[in-house]
Amino acid sequence: MAPVRTRFAPSPTGSLHVGGVRTALYCWLYARKTGGQFLLRIEDTDQIRSTDEATRGIVRDLQWVGLDWDEGPVVGGSVGPYLQSERLPIYDAHLAPLLASGAAYEAWDERSELDRLRKEAEARKETFLYRRRQVTEAQIAAWKAEGRKPVVRLAMRPGPVVVQDEVLGEVIVPGEQLDDLVLRKADGFPTYHFAVVVDDHSMAVDLVLRGQEHLMNTHKHQGIYEAFGWRHPRVGHLPLIDNQKGVKLSKREKAQTAREAARQRLQVEPGWRPLTTTPEAFLAFVDKKTDAVGTAEAIAAALDVSLPLIEVMDYRKAGYVPEALLNYLLLLGWHAPGDRELYTLDEAVEAFDLDRVNKKSARFDPVKLR
Ligand code: GLU
Repeated sequence: MAPVRTRFAPSPTGSLHVGGVRTALYCWLYARKTGGQFLLRIEDTDQIRSTDEATRGIVRDLQWVGLDWDEGPVVGGSVGPYLQSERLPIYDAHLAPLLASGAAYEAWDERSELDRLRKEAEARKETFLYRRRQVTEAQIAAWKAEGRKPVVRLAMRPGPVVVQDEVLGEVIVPGEQLDDLVLRKADGFPTYHFAVVVDDHSMAVDLVLRGQEHLMNTHKHQGIYEAFGWRHPRVGHLPLIDNQKGVKLSKREKAQTAREAARQRLQVEPGWRPLTTTPEAFLAFVDKKTDAVGTAEAIAAALDVSLPLIEVMDYRKAGYVPEALLNYLLLLGWHAPGDRELYTLDEAVEAFDLDRVNKKSARFDPVKLR
């Protein structure tokens, strides 16, 4: 088997979800099995939601479970930097030829204009799809003088966009159903879509494994690969993880539990405030204005309620053994030959393959994990 480079590319907008670790585990196993490399890349292009604290948390949680990376933050590597916010000149350099060839173009619409177009499409019972609009040079000059900044969009081509998925098989979407997607935002930052394509290509990633919620993104990415004349790396989408009620396992469950408990307490004692966080953070949380990292935990601690365990740090703090968590996650989305249930990491490297990754959603069973 040829060595395969895989990567785990979390966005540091919160702490690491067990689903994220499962993705990291499968990527790690595949790289180790083939004698390739496992990369960690931090996708912090969302300037508003990304935090350094979350990046540190991801690094700490991966270290705790014992998935070591060959290239990435802390360890470095030859195709870095591995934080997207430090790669802006690389994205700009890649955008220039696409603009020059007409594969990408500047679009000057303000949000209110896009909202109007979206509403008009809704009134016609159509899905809103952005396509290039004709504007005059004089109009552009006037917008520039106003200080308006354009976004850069990809001109999506018509015709079927075919993705050969390692888990799901062939998935075809007509290009006519895909938006002219934004590559660079008005703040000068690339979108996730553009950065992920430039990075996977320039970091020589061979195999992309990520959750099924990204499947439709892959068709958009295919459009960007084509515009560059590059080949899409192999790609596989992993089954979603549901909770016991069959609803996608989400960090929001923690926030909901803490918020509900806080509201009940406020009904009894309206002036009550936890000592574990600031009154402002508490009130903003109760009003659903924020789900900042750690606020749900702080409130739960003050109220002495227990929250569902969803993020890796929940398991770490609750005293779970990382090997057990990884063993459980291995089997959540992959079925072993026979009914074998217990694996060391080395044994998992030996046994793991993509053929046995499931297509259907997995149900997270905390009792089995325990
Ligand atoms: N930054 C994306 C996320 O955290 C990663 C998706 C990908 O692996 O391409 O959802």
